[in-house]
Amino acid sequence: MGKIYVIGLGPGDEKMMTAQAADALSACDVVVGYKVYIDLIRDMCAGRELIESNMRQEQKRCETCVELAVSGKNVALVCSGDAGVYGMASPLLEVAAKAGFDDIAIIPGVTAALSGAALLGAPIGHDFCVISLSDLRTPWEIIEKRLRLAAEADLCIVLYNPASHKRADYLERACRILMERIDGNRSCGYVKNAGRDGTIRKVCTLGELAGEEADMFTTVFIGNSQTYIKNGRLITPRGYDIQ
Ligand code: SAH
Repeated sequence: MGKIYVIGLGPGDEKMMTAQAADALSACDVVVGYKVYIDLIRDMCAGRELIESNMRQEQKRCETCVELAVSGKNVALVCSGDAGVYGMASPLLEVAAKAGFDDIAIIPGVTAALSGAALLGAPIGHDFCVISLSDLRTPWEIIEKRLRLAAEADLCIVLYNPASHKRADYLERACRILMERIDGNRSCGYVKNAGRDGTIRKVCTLGELAGEEADMFTTVFIGNSQTYIKNGRLITPRGYDIQ
C-alpha cells in the first residue's frame, strides 16, 4: 500500500512552500489536484504522473487518491494555501475513512489569511476569524449570521471567496451587513494574487471596500475597532502601551 500526502502548497511562490511540503512532493509517484494548483508546481513534478482535475470533482478526486494509494502508489493531493482551510483535507479524510484507508499525512501550508496579512502589515494581530462568502455549500443565511456575530464580537475578519463570476456583488453585500454594526470608517484592506504574478495590495475603509472589485484570488481583511492605518499598513494592536 502507498501513502496519501495532502499538501498545502502556500499561496503560489515556491519560496512560500514549506520544506516539509517540498519533501512530501518529492516522495510521491503521483500528483493529484485542481489544474490551477498543479500549474504552480509543474516544474517540481518532473517524472511524476500528474492527474489534473476540474473544480467540483472533489469527491472523485479523493476516491482516485485512495484507489491509487491502495494500488501501491504514494500520492500527493495538492491544494493552494493550507489543505485544511477550505481545502481537500476534510473531504479526503471522509472518503478515506469510508474506504477504510488510513495511511494519510496532512502537510500544512501558508494559508491566504497569513500570506495576505503579511502583505498588508499586521491586520490580524489580535483575535480573528475567517469566513468564506461562497454559498455553494453553505446557505447564505448562515454566512450572514456569522458576519453579524463576528462584527458583534469585534473580531478582525478575513473573508475568503469574496467573489466569483456568478457572485460578483457578494463582497458589497457582506460589507453592507457588516456596516449594520461597524462604522464605515473601519480600517480594512485586501490582497489579490498573494505570492503570485500580479500581486495587488490595498488598504481602505469598510465603506470604500463595498465598492471594490474582488475576484477569485482576492482575500479581504476587516480590522477590529482598534485597527488603524499607518504608513500604508494595517496595524491591529496587541494592546502594548507603545510610547
Ligand atoms: N486552501 C486555500 C483557500 C482556498 S479557498 C488557503 O488556505 O489559502 C479560495 C480562496 O482563497 C480565494 O477565493 C481567496 O479568497 C483565497 N486565496 C487563495 N489563494 C490566494 C492568493 N494567492 N492571494 C489571495 N487570496 C488567495
